[in-house]
Order: sequence, then structure tokens, then C-alpha cells
Amino acid sequence: MAITQITSDTIESVLPAPLTVPVPAELDASKLEIDLASELKAVPPASELTFGQVMTDHMMIAHYDPVNGWSAPQIKPYGSLSVDPASSCLQYATNAFEGMKAYLGPDGKPRLFRPQMNMQRMETSGGRLALPPFDTNELLKLIKKLVLIEQRWIPTVPGHSLYLRPTIIGTRSSLGVAASDRATLYVICSPTGPFFRTGPKPIALFAVGEHVRSWPGGTGGYKLSLNYASTFRPQQVAAKLGYDQCLWLLNGTIAEAGAMNVFVVLKRDDGALEVATPPLDGTILPGVTRASILELVAAHPSKTTLPGLDPSIVLHPAERTMTMADLTEWSEEGRLLEVFAVGTAAVVAAVGRIGYEGKDIVLPAHEGALGPVARGMYDRVTAIQDGRFDWQDWCVKCE
Ligand SMILES: *Cc1c(COP(=O)(O)O)cnc(C)c1O
Repeated sequence: MAITQITSDTIESVLPAPLTVPVPAELDASKLEIDLASELKAVPPASELTFGQVMTDHMMIAHYDPVNGWSAPQIKPYGSLSVDPASSCLQYATNAFEGMKAYLGPDGKPRLFRPQMNMQRMETSGGRLALPPFDTNELLKLIKKLVLIEQRWIPTVPGHSLYLRPTIIGTRSSLGVAASDRATLYVICSPTGPFFRTGPKPIALFAVGEHVRSWPGGTGGYKLSLNYASTFRPQQVAAKLGYDQCLWLLNGTIAEAGAMNVFVVLKRDDGALEVATPPLDGTILPGVTRASILELVAAHPSKTTLPGLDPSIVLHPAERTMTMADLTEWSEEGRLLEVFAVGTAAVVAAVGRIGYEGKDIVLPAHEGALGPVARGMYDRVTAIQDGRFDWQDWCVKCE
């Protein structure tokens, strides 16, 4: 049709429909779709649980693409993911995760321990990998919903819980070395028993200096999968030599114990105890347990008395660098009272000896493995987690 006169009608007939710029959707828990498994698995007896082996019936999952944003989240039967072999997560390790637990309270209701801290850390970890951001409040709502659905998996036996593994992976399928503009966010759950099934045992650490877990300006301060891959070989060497975990060093400075933060209890000249851990200089993972223990140390005895610790014992929290030379010297002077490792999985694990340069630094032995400070911390933190002791809203109910 030849256009002889231009009117607004003719303009409309020749122009494409007005462009609507799609706004990528935010992660939105109110859009949750639930597809329950038609057949539920048998829950193994609490006494047979080994960490991370058994997964529950369901998982939460949501996908991000740059046009649509976050898909409606789904809780659906646990199962395999389908990822392109060229995916960013497989080729370039764009994976971050969290480790948290749901505990049953005295009322039989599930609770989380300081979950906002895990959400914040996951946001930071994903950001470090340039993965698409998500609303962490919405993720927490989805986690609570998943825990309520999987509640029958939390063993009612004390010391047991449901380990939660929120994970984000980059799913851009291209070999181009670039940020992943696509992602999959999911949460899986695994029932778990106490770290030490037969009661706490002191662990042996092997101080490793020639291989490092993290370095200044690196990614050790983020919970990224890539931080763990290179630790397995040194861990195998340590195990062969009869040690349980590596004590990671950086230029002779103490960093972490395996995948746990490390604490040292030191007797000061004035008789007070210093409870020290390396500072968060970017090479140390900012553990939720680490932060909680520093706060509890500071609260004793002015705000609370820690179980088994006399109020007359003065504790000073300290974030400071410590070298193996310091540790050796303090041990020789008899001032090194306790070393313990902390994290969500074990809460507190006593260290019995540290292998360094062909010798062992041996820590004083205690009945029940944990020294008084480690014991006080373990008892108090687990009581807060289980909802037996109220402390500063650290325990959050799933509802
Ligand atoms: C997860 C983790 C910890 C412990 O963190 P929590 O939040 O206390 O569980 C410590 N170090 C490393 C390397 C970790 O990955």
C-alpha cells in the first residue's frame, strides 16, 4: 500500500509495537511453587547418620536469567540438575555455598542459628564471583519453608540437626572467560548427628606452610567452592602422617584449622585468659561460630556466666595474628592452655597436638577432651542453638 498521507494511524501501522523493557524479576518467596514427593524416603536411625551422606526428600530451587530475572522458586523432590557441559560453574568454578543447621527446640519446633549472618555471607560470596544478586530475606523465607516441610528428618535425639546447604552456581553456557549472567540457586538438606559420635576427642593438626589455603587479596574470606579444591591433597598428606586436619599457615602465621576457625587460650601475666583468633584480614573465613564465640567471651562474666567457668575468671577476646613461633614459645612457657577449632559442623573441637617442623606441640589434656573455655563455649552455643538458652535473638524459629 502506498502511503499518500501520513496520519497517526499510518504511523502505528508501520512502526513495531512499542518496546517494553522487561524488568528482571526479584527472587520472591511469595511465588513459591510446591511439588511434594509422592513417595517419601525412609529416615535412617539417628545412630547411623554420617555427615552429608543422606539427603532429604525435597530441595528448593530457583533459576536466574538476565531477561526474566529470578524464576518462581520451587520446592520439589530432591533430584539431579541438568547443566550444560560448558557451564560457567563446571569450567570456571563460579560456585558459592553456605553451611547452616536447623535444630529442634524443646517445643519440637525447628530453629535456625543466626541465619541472617549466613544470608549476608552468601550475598558477599556470590558478589565476589559476580553472580546475579538475590534478595537474601526471600531466600531465608524459602529456607524456613523447606525446613518445615523436611521437619520429620530432624532427629529428636540431642546433638542432632538438619544440615542445610544453600548453593549458588553460575550456569552461563559459554567457554568465554567472563562472569556468569545466569545462575541456579538451590538448597539441599542432610540430617546429621554429633561430629564426635563417641564423645568429643581431641584432634591432631598438621601445620602446613608450603601449601596455602588463602592469601592477601585472594578469596579465603568468602565461602567459595574453589577454596576447598586445593586443600584435599595437603589434607591427604596430613592424614597419612597421622593428623586429622591441616592447620593452614600463611608466612608462618596461623590461619585456620581445616575448614574451621581456630582459637587459642593464653594465660596472661595478670592471670586473666586471652581467647584469641586470627583477625578477618581477608584470608580468614568469617565464621558465624567464630563471631558468636568472640561475643560470648566478651559477655563473660558481665552479661552472662559461661557454663563451668567461674565468674572470677576474666576472659579477654582478641583478634590478633599469631605465628607458630609464638605458639611454640607459649607452650614452652606453660601459657598455652587450650587450642580449639570452631564451625557449624563440630561447633567446638579441642586440639590435642599440632605437628610442626617434625615435632608436636602438645596441649594439656582434659577430661572429656574439651578444656574449660572450649567446654563453656560448646555448652553455651549448643544450648542457644537448641533454644534451651535465650540469647540476643540468635535462635530464629522457622514459621
Ligand atoms: C564454613 C567455614 C568455617 C566456619 O564457619 P561457620 O559459619 O562457623 O560454620 C570456617 N572456615 C572455613 C574455611 C569455612 O569454610
